[in-house]
Parts: sequence; structure tokens; C-alpha cells
Amino acid sequence: MKTLGLIGGMSWESTALYYQIINETVRDRLGGLHSARLLLYSVDFHDIECLQQAGAWAEAGQQLAQAARALEAAGAEGLALCTNTMHKVVPAIEAAVAIPLWHIADPTAVAVQQAGVKTIGLLGTRFTMEQDFYRGRLAAQHGLTVMIPEPADREIAHRVIYDELCQGDIRAESRAHYRQIIQRLVMNGAEGIILGCTEITLLVGPDDAAVPLFDTTRLHAQAMAAWALGDH
Ligand code: GLU
Repeated sequence: MKTLGLIGGMSWESTALYYQIINETVRDRLGGLHSARLLLYSVDFHDIECLQQAGAWAEAGQQLAQAARALEAAGAEGLALCTNTMHKVVPAIEAAVAIPLWHIADPTAVAVQQAGVKTIGLLGTRFTMEQDFYRGRLAAQHGLTVMIPEPADREIAHRVIYDELCQGDIRAESRAHYRQIIQRLVMNGAEGIILGCTEITLLVGPDDAAVPLFDTTRLHAQAMAAWALGDH
């Protein structure tokens, strides 16, 4: 089994899910007392969020590159960045290490394609929904048509992530908002929805939508475990 390196803490609420899902996947595959070999570098998310707000992405990239170097030096053989948003700085991280970083959008897109879905709604932070680093990869590398919510809905989706979900605050009224946002995307043609923020799975599940939901946290964590077990 290979040793995984997780760059987490963005937020730790979802990094905890990665730890659980990776270990469950290894246990289910190998049985008994088997568990994942992994290293976790968990940042102080306050610092990263300040850099996001300031648009200081290069500095954020350098901080995560430093985390990646530390994981590589400690023996990690492959990296997962446990957040969709910070995939914006993947080039800086990849430039800092020799080990592979497994992009969260790739196992997600494979699951979408396997479900026969071509037009997909994307929920996440404003950065993930509006900028090209994530949508562009889904479209250019995986041939998906990506839809995002209207501006007012994007604002709600973004605010709930930072003000509530990343702080472990799960509210019924926010679930209702997300259900409405999903419904509007479906009415406009989305055949499925990517939960493109690693905390959204804390708020909504299959019962909250009439179309398939693609949980990036689970898909990414399972793909990492499969890689550690030698699947690809
Ligand atoms: N975990 C979230 C994501 O998947 C948002 C937190 C962050 O800004 O990294 O995008």
C-alpha cells in the first residue's frame, strides 16, 4: 500500500471525512485491521481564508506548496488537496514536488460520465463556480457542459460554506436554500449536480435533489484510497 499525503484543514470539518472515507475504503478492500497509511498536513484555515479574501493566491499557493514539500519529505508518495477551491493553486503545488497530486475534479468527472450525465450543475464557493480553474477542467478535459447558479444563488451558496459549514454549523434553512438552488439548476437543464465544495455533503444528500448528486469529498477520497491500493 502506498502512503498518501493529505493537505487538509480547509476546512477540518471535511478533512475529517477524507480520513474516515479513505480508511473505510481500505478496510472494506483488505479487511481485518487494515487501515490507510497516510500523512496529514492540516493548515490553519483562518490564514488561508484571509489570503483568499485578499486575492493573494500566489502566497496561498506558496503556503500549500510548503505543506506539499513537508509531506513529500515525510514519505508521502501521492498528494490530495482536500478542498475544491484551493485547486486554483495546483500549478504552484505541482511545481514544488516530484510526487503526483491527484486533482479532485478528475474522479468527479469520471463518476459524472459513468452516470451518463453530460450537462452538470456546479455548486461550490464563488471562486470554484465562477473561475476557470475548475469549470474549465471539467469542460476541456472531460467534455462536460457546466452550469452554475444565478448570481444571487451563488452568493447564498458561498456564504453558507464559509459562515456555516466550515464552522460545523448545519442549518435546516440553509438546506432549504440549497434545495431551491439545485431545483433551479435542474429546471434550467442540469442532469446532475456536483457538490463542488468538500463541506456541502454535510448539508445535502440524495434526498435533496431529483437528479444524481456527485459528492467530491467521497469521490476524491475513494479515488485516493484506490490509488494507494494499487488500482491505477
Ligand atoms: N472546502 C471548500 C472547497 O472544497 C471551501 C473551503 C476553501 O476555500 O478551501 O472548496
